[in-house]
Amino acid sequence: MSVATTESVQLVQFLKNVKLFSELSPESLAKLGSRLKTVEFPPSEVIVREGAPGVSMYIIRSGLVEVRKKDPTTGIDFLVAQLGEGAAVGEMALLTSRPRSATVTTVQATVVFTLTRSDFRNLLTQHPEISLGLARILAERVEEATKHVGIDFISLQKENFDPKVVGLVPQTVILLHRLIPVAYVNNALTLAMVNPSNLVAFDDVRRYVKGAIIEPRICTEDDFRKFMDSIYPQLMGLDKGQRTELEKKNTEERRERKEERRKQTSTMDVPVQSFEDLQNEILTGMEVQSEEEEKVNAMELTTASEDAPVVRLANNILALAIKKGASDIHIEPQEKGVVFRLRVDGILKVENVLSKKIQLPLISRLKILSRLDISERRMPQDGRISIKINDRSIDFRVSTVPAKFGEKVVMRVLDKSGSLLPLDQLILHPKVVDLMYRMIHQPYGIIYVTGPTGSGKTTTLYSALNEINSSDVNISTAEDPVEYDLPGLCQVQTHKDIGLDFARILRAFLRQDPDVILVGETRDMETAKISVEAALTGHLVFTTLHTNDAPGSFTRLQEMGIEPFLMANSTIGIVAQRLARRICQNCKVQVEIDDTMLGFFGFTRENAPPFFKGEGCDRCSGNGYRGRVAIYEILVMNDELKRAVAAGAKTDALRDMAEKGGMVNLKEYAMFLMEKGLTTVEEVLTNLVISD
Ligand SMILES: [Zn+2]
Repeated sequence: MSVATTESVQLVQFLKNVKLFSELSPESLAKLGSRLKTVEFPPSEVIVREGAPGVSMYIIRSGLVEVRKKDPTTGIDFLVAQLGEGAAVGEMALLTSRPRSATVTTVQATVVFTLTRSDFRNLLTQHPEISLGLARILAERVEEATKHVGIDFISLQKENFDPKVVGLVPQTVILLHRLIPVAYVNNALTLAMVNPSNLVAFDDVRRYVKGAIIEPRICTEDDFRKFMDSIYPQLMGLDKGQRTELEKKNTEERRERKEERRKQTSTMDVPVQSFEDLQNEILTGMEVQSEEEEKVNAMELTTASEDAPVVRLANNILALAIKKGASDIHIEPQEKGVVFRLRVDGILKVENVLSKKIQLPLISRLKILSRLDISERRMPQDGRISIKINDRSIDFRVSTVPAKFGEKVVMRVLDKSGSLLPLDQLILHPKVVDLMYRMIHQPYGIIYVTGPTGSGKTTTLYSALNEINSSDVNISTAEDPVEYDLPGLCQVQTHKDIGLDFARILRAFLRQDPDVILVGETRDMETAKISVEAALTGHLVFTTLHTNDAPGSFTRLQEMGIEPFLMANSTIGIVAQRLARRICQNCKVQVEIDDTMLGFFGFTRENAPPFFKGEGCDRCSGNGYRGRVAIYEILVMNDELKRAVAAGAKTDALRDMAEKGGMVNLKEYAMFLMEKGLTTVEEVLTNLVISD
């Protein structure tokens, strides 16, 4: 019989404090101790790597390690825990050889005891009593592992508190992170938390309770407040004066927390790996103006969506959309993942497929930012996110729709301070832009801009308004939504829910002595009629119509109940437009096109101009296209057309008449762009033929 050395007594004592071995007898612990090997790791060394086969367990003798799990689709590294002396990692490896479920890295120089699976098995075969001692704890671990993220609920009003335990964490940390230490047994600290996924809170608490294994429990915000107002001061022996101080501090802390959250969303300095092309410069100065919603019913959704990686992910999605110049963001839950798509230059493309696990927190986060009710998941909702990037204000008009696999979120990017191009940079054809200038300088009448959705009508209208905007002109706009901010304009947003539609705003405008009125869209008889009346009573009116070409607008207006003679007298002109993708000028090459195509554009092999396309290069991400270019057709009313419109002439007759009068039609305009090497035959055909 060997006499126990001081060292082995110490080892037994140490092992006794390891939760996994807490039920073993000193004899068993000594036997176990003899099988352990000591390994030393320098700081920042990986002890086990996620995905590697599990062959042994580790018990931390001294030092500190970090446990991280990576989300495979987003690349977000989640800090799961920081573990210190007495903590064990990889104990499941002793039972199964399943791959490691997390990566463990040393934070400081760390000494660990390792026990290999084969040593463990031999030990159990030779000393069956050890198996019994381990069985219960291991069973608990298995249960915990299969339970996933089950965090139990706790009611603070029903617990008994030990002031020593509550006092483990300073009041500032308690108030900052809204948490209460409830119990501290065997290095396990039970922590009641309003937000149990707040990883920063874990770190902060561990700074005061070194090496503790934190066992979070959820408590409600209300419960926490009540606790801090009544139980905490008594428990900590605070007198009335200190309590008032505490209450003051409480509100102060809440404000600071809010401020911190705002900062967190504004710096966004940690790009998600899968968005590695996301530049930091776009992130700095990004400011989420939408205040965090105070009153939210579904607490668990809020807490999950406040988790820093989710906040960053949501921010990165917005930032990426801006960086890529996207017009729309689609977040689309599907059966096995969440598809994240961006519409850039009119084309919708998949950016990423995110993990299904991210769906609820991400969508909740976007809904919080949009001031939507996050507990409502069965009804469509509309909201808005306002942000600022380097003095540019950008709005996202957010819409949610309940779909089969969850809520689909679509966000329209509205760059309100977006660079408005002067008209001559939008309308490149010199003859056509001249017509436009002539029209917008008329004293009164209506200018209609037509084209399918997403054809750039609004941009044309704003550029036109920008052209005539000056301090001696009163310009009022009714919009849905307000897409650009123009200084000096009175811009009004429609609100269907309170009955504030285009017609109503328009009638109000007319009592406000306007010179120029913009009506976002003419889609009903009432709006159409008031616009015509406004034009006939001396106002310049800009509006959009949903028609294919300029001559066809008269038919549309007639369908809306406008008398032909009123149309003839109120209309200045009609702009029809399309948007085609612009050839990347960096990789532009000449191409041959076949005879049928040449014929379509009215050419033969002999008189055909050169045609171009983009070959694809770094600048255009291999697409061959960068940005877009508009195709225009402008019909300006003249006496002959007026007579024909008043007499109710058909669209075809009006078109012939306009073309004879020198109107450059969409096809001719497109031809002009192709000859300049600005767009391709394919783009023109897609935009003109299909929409005809
Ligand atoms: Zn290119």
